[in-house]
Amino acid sequence: METISTDVAIIGAGGAGLRAAIALAETDPKLRIALISKVYPMRSHTCSAEGGAAGVIKPDDSFDLHFDDTAGGGDWLSDQDCVEYFIHEAPKELLQLEHWGCPWNREADGSVAVRPFGGMKKKRTWFAADKSGFHILHTLFQTSLQFPSITRYDEFFGLDLLIDEGRCQGVTAMEMRSGELRQFHAKAVIIAGGGGGRMFPFSTNGAIKTGDGMAMAYRAGAPLKDMEFVQYHPTGLPNTGSLLTEACRGEGGILVNKNGRRYLQDYGMGPETPVGKPQLKTMELGPRDRVSQAYWHELQKGNTVSTQWGECVLLDMRHLGEKYIDERLPLVRELCASYLQVDIVKDPVPIRPVVHYMMGGISTNTKAATPIPGLFAAGECACVSLNGANRLGSNSLVELLVFGRRAALSAIEHIQGLPAANTKALNARAVETQKRIDGLYARTNGTESMSGVRKEMMDTMEKNAGIYRTEEGLQEGVKIIHDLRQRYDKVILTDKSKVFNTDLFQMLELGSMLDCAEAVTVGALARKESRGAHQRLDYAERDDNKFLRHTMAYFKGLEPPRIDYLDVVITKSPPGVRDYSGDHK
Ligand SMILES: Cc1cc2nc3c(=O)[nH]c(=O)nc-3n(C[C@H](O)[C@H](O)[C@H](O)COP(=O)(O)OP(=O)(O)OC[C@H]3O[C@@H](n4cnc5c(N)ncnc54)[C@H](O)[C@@H]3O)c2cc1C
Repeated sequence: METISTDVAIIGAGGAGLRAAIALAETDPKLRIALISKVYPMRSHTCSAEGGAAGVIKPDDSFDLHFDDTAGGGDWLSDQDCVEYFIHEAPKELLQLEHWGCPWNREADGSVAVRPFGGMKKKRTWFAADKSGFHILHTLFQTSLQFPSITRYDEFFGLDLLIDEGRCQGVTAMEMRSGELRQFHAKAVIIAGGGGGRMFPFSTNGAIKTGDGMAMAYRAGAPLKDMEFVQYHPTGLPNTGSLLTEACRGEGGILVNKNGRRYLQDYGMGPETPVGKPQLKTMELGPRDRVSQAYWHELQKGNTVSTQWGECVLLDMRHLGEKYIDERLPLVRELCASYLQVDIVKDPVPIRPVVHYMMGGISTNTKAATPIPGLFAAGECACVSLNGANRLGSNSLVELLVFGRRAALSAIEHIQGLPAANTKALNARAVETQKRIDGLYARTNGTESMSGVRKEMMDTMEKNAGIYRTEEGLQEGVKIIHDLRQRYDKVILTDKSKVFNTDLFQMLELGSMLDCAEAVTVGALARKESRGAHQRLDYAERDDNKFLRHTMAYFKGLEPPRIDYLDVVITKSPPGVRDYSGDHK
């Protein structure tokens, strides 16, 4: 197996991975950086982010307000030292992107424009029309090209971390074009592999979001934190799951049920503001968990609209007018026309909540370090504890930047004065990966189909670990996912070829999703309270006495994970009541 020696290996070339690579190269031009990605960088999910990125910039806004929105929005499960660091770094990072060429929308006077976003009580979301992620990723990608020390390994599938003497010292990956394995020996590894929303059937997530990075760290001994917190976005297309950005509501779109009623007023999100007038009350700008839960209640009451794609509510943007829609929401108009044949200028569009984001992930501290020395993580795959129990829209794109950079700085600190690697020991670890892959090819007694196991996993996650959960449903979910993990070992690889074997990659991705799904269901069963995105019908209240703490899941092979807890860091905002009935300016 070919060995590639490098200083820092990064797995993932989305927003977090690219930001980390740039920070490494800028800080120490002599460092050798390997940027490994299973897709070409511009195909990473960051590219599809639409709405924008939050950072305090306007005179009527303040760091304290961004802090309060984030800590309260996260239902007080965020570590407040982390939130503090984040809010101060956010505008610096967004300005840095501006200097690298990101085309932020402008006010008439030339200053940066901001738009309102759910759960943010001030306008602070920077945007580039409704293609913010595309422009951010493009800016990072083109900037990364300036640095000869960044070597890209596009279409390399990351497999296992190489751990020796308790330190992470590299990773194995498969060159997808040839099917050949490589081992990367590195003094530090940064995982930036993105989320895993694809374990659910309805998701805004691209097909590549299968939790590989999380599973890789988890299997190597790093705990996964707060995995039970899975965010549903209230406005997805009912057939494809494609996202209609929160900016639809930020710009004034309204949600109505089959009777034409703006039903959010019935769920503590403020009295109705006349349509077309400036948004004075929270209403459609409530946080995502609350708006998604309101849909569920409307469904129970029989207030949803039956469509050929199932039950929906309606998102109405007609009053915004064609000119404004084309200026601010061109992609949304295009998506609705292409996938549902609805012109949002003329008709309301049917939508339903869809899985969007994982608050949980690889446990890191505010320096983006995992408990394994030499292993760092940033972006959606990490849980640095910024988002708590519910992420606010537009905080994630900034999280990638802030903690992508932080991971790079921590990696540089870590590699100073490290002893030389024991390459023999690393080679021996890499052989384990080879054996694992050879074993998959050699399996002849498979009785399970990959698509069958995947479908059962997805259906179970939606049914048993969806917007609302119960003891009984979760117990069933835990059992089914546990069984599926055993059955996964009997899935047969039908395509035995080497070149771009998509059958193999899907099988590996399914393994990652199953490991993550078990951490989600087991964590959810153990958390007997309702907080943010984790809502239990049988434990309807938040229980700060017992559960103001992070769930930590430790990998135990084919057995369910061991669950432990970690205290939440509270610095200045004690847990309080989340109030979204008030004014929104
Ligand atoms: C449709 C949509 C719209 C969104 N809109 C917004 C928004 O407006 N504002 C906001 O703040 N957030 C938004 N989000 C959330 C945000 O975009 C994501 O959380 C964020 O972009 C994730 O970035 P990342 O760098 O962590 O991962 P990604 O961009 O997903 O990149 C992951 C990288 O990891 C690589 N990778 C994964 N597994 C492997 C493997 N096994 N081997 C090698 N490489 C691997 C991939 O190739 C990829 O390069 C949105 C999300 C979606 C889905």
